Amino acid sequence: MDILHSQLATLQQRLSFVATDPIDWKFYVQVSSWAVTLFESYLLLRQYPLYSKVAPPKVLENHFDTAVFRKSQLYGRDKARFSFFIGLVKQVIDSALIFSGFYACAWDLGGKITGYFGYGAEYEITQSLAFSAILFIVSSLPSIPISVYETFVLEEKHGFNKTTPSLFITDLLKNWVLGFVIGGPFLSAFLYVFKWAGDRFVPWLMAFLWEEPRLAFQISMVILYPTVIQPLFNKLSPLPAGELRTRTEALAGKLKFPLKHLYEIDGSKRSSHSNAYFFGLPWSKHIVIFDTLIKESKPAEVEAVLAHELGHWYHMHPTKLLCISQVHIFTILAFFPAFLHAPQFLRAFDFSAEVASRPPTIVAFLLFQMILTPLEAFVSTGINFISRRFEWEADRFACELQDRLGDPEMENMGDRLGRALVTLHVKNLSTVWVDWLYSAYHHSHPTLTERLKALESFKVKRDGDVKKEL
Ligand SMILES: [Zn+2]
Repeated sequence: MDILHSQLATLQQRLSFVATDPIDWKFYVQVSSWAVTLFESYLLLRQYPLYSKVAPPKVLENHFDTAVFRKSQLYGRDKARFSFFIGLVKQVIDSALIFSGFYACAWDLGGKITGYFGYGAEYEITQSLAFSAILFIVSSLPSIPISVYETFVLEEKHGFNKTTPSLFITDLLKNWVLGFVIGGPFLSAFLYVFKWAGDRFVPWLMAFLWEEPRLAFQISMVILYPTVIQPLFNKLSPLPAGELRTRTEALAGKLKFPLKHLYEIDGSKRSSHSNAYFFGLPWSKHIVIFDTLIKESKPAEVEAVLAHELGHWYHMHPTKLLCISQVHIFTILAFFPAFLHAPQFLRAFDFSAEVASRPPTIVAFLLFQMILTPLEAFVSTGINFISRRFEWEADRFACELQDRLGDPEMENMGDRLGRALVTLHVKNLSTVWVDWLYSAYHHSHPTLTERLKALESFKVKRDGDVKKEL
């Protein structure tokens, strides 16, 4: 523990210039956030002409009829135009908020509100909660019309929207209540750990963030999510007895997957996009299949999709991603103290000398995150790269099940998975022509063309191996 502390202390020493040098942090944030937004706009401009292609790639020729392909191209084009416009609008708003010194005003306003109820400046956590509520309301104002347009105009036009206005409003309110009920206590606990642990907060906060998702959070999520939160939005019902249930239970049994419950979810209530997933504790897991997937694909094909999902479990992909995110959080926290104890840093964003002399943790953390924006773009590209490798590994797992289990019933998994993927793709009108740089930056999954090619190569390799054995 002491080695860790001395390493962290050295790092803080290196970063001590943050507290002493007059750096125009505001200008840096403006330039770097615009750079990220303009880069993302550039990616959309690279991708955009591909929506004018009149025929799908060769591997997909037999799967798409002209009408469906045309529909998917039009949907892709509309979404790209929308993202291009919204990306710029959001950036203009963020930029204006920083330029106008909005965050300093919001902190003072938070103080006035809590002061009105008799809590002075010494109640930093109370004022932080008021400050967060103000930011939440201000950020919701532009995002509501955007999401109304997206749901009721864009998705509606292409036949995806199943949300009614009343469902939209109740969903929004439920999300807000959940945000306050879960977010408020979480934020308070987070800030409390900072206050309590002082400068040695990094390991303690890691312990909190680690324990929280691992135990308290995960356990409460495992229990709360399916029983309390998910039912607020969707209906989970046990998958009825039949071919799919039998197949899934048999597959889970063969792989020793600790299947506790098998659910069907009414995803089609809001949208026709469809999928399947699993969740739960290491010794007791639940599988959830969307009703849309069940409706569109044959049981043998849904089984292949589940084989892919179980591939994620077998290769411990969720755990690996959790570890990566812990390292990521640790690195961010290790750099933070240099910015927390730097009045100059807050002064650069128009905070008064009085506030800046004892920087509130939440304010310093918020501004610190803005500094990280361009780095985070690199991190998320890296995580997408890893996630695409995991998808490829899960696909291979499904293809190799027949040999792994020595079970002839698992034959043609690759073909079945391919058919299910194509069906999902056609149904969701997903884009089939993708620019490589756009895909590298944005996509957590390989494109359909890449996946079908890989499935084909696993099959060729397997056939080769079988021949060799003969
Ligand atoms: Zn996957």
